[in-house]
Amino acid sequence: MRQLVILSGKGGTGKTTVTAALAHLASQEFPIVLADADVDAANLELVLSPTKLEEHDFYGGQVAIIDPEKCIACGICAEVCRFEAVMTPSPSPQPPPSPPRAGEREGVTPQAARVGEGVYHVDPIACEGCASCFYQCPVEAIRMEEQLAGRWFRSDTRFGPLFHAHLFAAQENSGKLVTLVKQQARLLALDIGAGLLLVDGPPGIGCPVISASAGADLALLVTEPTVSGVHDLERALSTVNHFGVPALVCINKYDVNPDRSREIAAFCAERGIEVAGKIPFDTVVTEAMVQGLPVTAFSNGAVSRELRRVWARLRATDREIE
Ligand code: SF4
Ligand code: SF4
Repeated sequence: MRQLVILSGKGGTGKTTVTAALAHLASQEFPIVLADADVDAANLELVLSPTKLEEHDFYGGQVAIIDPEKCIACGICAEVCRFEAVMTPSPSPQPPPSPPRAGEREGVTPQAARVGEGVYHVDPIACEGCASCFYQCPVEAIRMEEQLAGRWFRSDTRFGPLFHAHLFAAQENSGKLVTLVKQQARLLALDIGAGLLLVDGPPGIGCPVISASAGADLALLVTEPTVSGVHDLERALSTVNHFGVPALVCINKYDVNPDRSREIAAFCAERGIEVAGKIPFDTVVTEAMVQGLPVTAFSNGAVSRELRRVWARLRATDREIE
């Protein structure tokens, strides 16, 4: 079973459009399993109209919780928290401040902890789960609890099983949920003897991209002829190079800015990277998306022909490196 990851240096390059088309084309040749590794904004499901079969909770990082019954209000937790996540009790009413004395600057006060109501408590949004307060509390009034950070799903699509996930708002994307989604997809792919695990990677270059790229046999980097096109491509390339994953490039909407497209092609030529396809701009892509279809299943026009060419080049390259 081979693993192909689709990446881009930034969002909005048409990565998901390309992934959906490849899913359609690949599934005509052998069974495939899909993994949407963009857990911050999973949108492969918008094109593939999946039917959810399973739904599971995902517990991410930890959050500190103060037990008000045990807390002796010593204030150490507020002092050690570097994220100002500990809310201190409201102070009792104070007499009005006296005017500044000679040598004092008006309005300058020491850094204060955040003030909440009643008792010491932790703001779960601000808490980074570092556990400093947990270790420093003299009366063990603080416990660390796993936080429900998102959900992951196993679904069915007309092209094969799809694993995808949603990370809740304000939850940090450390790549753990991406790894989980990929692991589940990989297990099923091995179980059913799938020929391909197709991973729609997250945009950018952070931990989630590293998780999405790990173990891939081949990467397709989707880029656009924008001002930052070469820079974004360079960033994506540095990630896959780091893991030794061979990569091909696909320029989406290449005809919108032919000069920039030539710049990208020259950049690829200098580094010996094949440009597997140049997809023209066409509103047919949006029309297909509105119908909930990959563009290759919707039209046989120029966009679909170029995507078929991309798929053929990926297959040929994969056979060479296998
Ligand atoms: S360190 Fe412990 S006892 Fe002190 S204020 Fe914080 S929770 Fe309360
Ligand atoms: S776990 Fe860390 S971030 Fe959270 S309240 Fe305690 S010290 Fe602050």
